[in-house]
Amino acid sequence: MYDVIIIGAGPAGLTAGIYAARGGLKVGIVEFAMPGGQAASTENIENYPGFAEGINGYDLMNSFHKQALTFGVEFIFEEVQKLDFRESVKKIQTNSQVLEANAIIIAAGSKPRLLGVPGEIVFRGRGVSYCATCDGAFFKGKTVIVIGGGNAAIEEGLYLTKFATEVIIVHRRSSFRASQIAVNRAKDNPKIRFELNAVVEEILGQGKVEGVRIHEVHSGEIREIQADGVFIYIGTDPNAQFIHGEIKTDDLGYILTDNHLKTNIAGVYAAGDIRNTPLRQVATAVGDGALAAVEVEKYLSELNTLSSS
Ligand code: NAP
Repeated sequence: MYDVIIIGAGPAGLTAGIYAARGGLKVGIVEFAMPGGQAASTENIENYPGFAEGINGYDLMNSFHKQALTFGVEFIFEEVQKLDFRESVKKIQTNSQVLEANAIIIAAGSKPRLLGVPGEIVFRGRGVSYCATCDGAFFKGKTVIVIGGGNAAIEEGLYLTKFATEVIIVHRRSSFRASQIAVNRAKDNPKIRFELNAVVEEILGQGKVEGVRIHEVHSGEIREIQADGVFIYIGTDPNAQFIHGEIKTDDLGYILTDNHLKTNIAGVYAAGDIRNTPLRQVATAVGDGALAAVEVEKYLSELNTLSSS
């Protein structure tokens, strides 16, 4: 029996763990993969305060993990399958056991969104990737395509210039969601070229990726672009597969919370990327984690007051 179980060991979950355990609570974090979440596979995080030269995402998250262990957070490396919030003691069913806690913080993060075109699934691991840090080195001296126009696409496109001879950023519009500083840096990089107002219709190849077919939005022209790899960075979807209607979400499946990160269920909070939030960054996830933990402490002390009176 835990005071609080946190689902997910990304920056939000680890921060919530550090705050809650330091506050004297018995804390369990359930995580099905490595601690660190998506941030751990980011090559260089430049905008997390305190690291003027930037910091490798894996190193930063490793340090969060160590700090959580220092304060006594227990890690349960299992996959959450079902939630049962019918009673005040909450139950979490994993692949091998049922865990119980008086409060829950859901910080399961988000995952790369699929493009949904022919060739994407069949060439996954054979030229199609969602992680430049993991797979970029396979494309030394080659041409790669990056799909998307947000910060992830532009920054990972810049990172890929370390390996590839040419990086082609294909974006469906001519303006970007990415920050201007990142876009300018990409425009100034001689290895990067842009294909704008272009929609990828298919990923082409025989056994491995050989290019993409694009549809030019304004001219209607259909063209093929040759490349050895395709990196897809078109946003994320919530890791909410274990939520089966127990918690209110928006239409995309992101959890709805109030300003105190409370969900519609008493004692259940959400933090970080899985929340319906306007900004998904390590810095905002950290803030969410801290707030969720403090709110859980308040909730539990009120619960104790009620049960002892
Ligand atoms: P994002 O900001 O939502 O951008 C997604 C991009 O993909 C948009 O340009 C979008 O085009 C495009 N797109 C979406 N669906 C598409 C489709 N079906 N076909 C083609 N293109 C499609 O996502 P993100 O770049 O993954 O970033 C997610 C969050 O993490 C953001 O809040 C971002 O700021 C943050 N992030 C921050 C940093 C940083 O600050 N260093 C780094 C990485 C990520 P439209 O613009 O036309 O919709």
